[in-house]
Amino acid sequence: MNAMTKEVTRIALIGSGFVGASYAFALLNQGIASELVIIDKNGQKAEGDAMDLSHGLPFAPSMRVWAGDYADCKDADLVVITAGANQAPGETRLDLIDKNARIFKSIVADVMKSGFQGIFVVATNPVDVLTYATWKYSGLPAQQVIGSGTILDSARLKYLLGEYFQLDSRNVHAYVMGEHGDTELPVWSNTSIGGRSLHDYREQYGKPTQEELDRIFGNVRDAAYHIIERKGATYYGIAMGLARLTKAILWNENSILSVSALLTGQYGLDGVYIGVPAVINRAGIREIVELKLSDDEMRKLHASADVLKKAIHTIMK
Ligand code: NAD
Repeated sequence: MNAMTKEVTRIALIGSGFVGASYAFALLNQGIASELVIIDKNGQKAEGDAMDLSHGLPFAPSMRVWAGDYADCKDADLVVITAGANQAPGETRLDLIDKNARIFKSIVADVMKSGFQGIFVVATNPVDVLTYATWKYSGLPAQQVIGSGTILDSARLKYLLGEYFQLDSRNVHAYVMGEHGDTELPVWSNTSIGGRSLHDYREQYGKPTQEELDRIFGNVRDAAYHIIERKGATYYGIAMGLARLTKAILWNENSILSVSALLTGQYGLDGVYIGVPAVINRAGIREIVELKLSDDEMRKLHASADVLKKAIHTIMK
């Protein structure tokens, strides 16, 4: 494809705070899309970020960046929402629900008014609940509405297992499933390192012990609390996860990533957005991957779904 025929790919980013601006920076450096329009209720912040990012263009793959408004969403392939309140120290993700649900109702209405027919990616917390709300408010097919789900939690798990085994985290296959929050679960039954199952490792070497696995997962589940205590917010990891998800969509990769997707009978659950591995391509969610879970993992996934269903009910009644 030469420059004259290259397809224009537009991302509309709504919310240029810590997460949104870091995502924009990752997009620019990785050359994932040709256009990025930044929308924020704080117009000055959106303008400042667009100027600052544009000044890096001589050092980066090309991308047009500007501060815009909802009318710019009409021609967007992707609308990525990172707008809203974030967790204060000690606050859970579910504590943000009322504030952010109100914000989402008006954002999604404004996006849809533009004539947008692309794919929504949601990262604002509580992400599973707000992805469900985006699906309902937009009226788009569920495959076009994706939450970042446990993409970051799975990355944190891979990183910590890589550290444990002293191996490149890209050689670790591991998923965190369930709520992006306190009821999420590690799927040890389907974890492998360089193609070798965790189960095999443990049988041969007696390690990692259950205590070690519990400690590793505790650090995954509570990572956001640990980072927020230290610097007030988390943003680089999720920004890179969002860039990865964006690439899988726009480049039609058919990649398997753990995202928040609507379940319609998979894992014996339906009517809930929750973190599951899914095949991602240009159409959005091509399909949900149904792993064979242990009984304990299945029980925990259902318990997590119950928490999310209750939370969804509080805002969608
Ligand atoms: P932030 O406060 O730095 O940024 C939020 C931005 O949203 C601000 O620029 C604000 O002006 C804008 N905004 C608020 N209301 C708006 C509206 N109605 N329309 C347009 N823009 C609006 O917060 P942050 O640290 O960037 O976090 C954003 C969200 O991302 C939070 O909900 C946080 O919990 C979530 N988050 C998710 C993950 C994940 O894994 N999914 C990880 C980290 C943070």
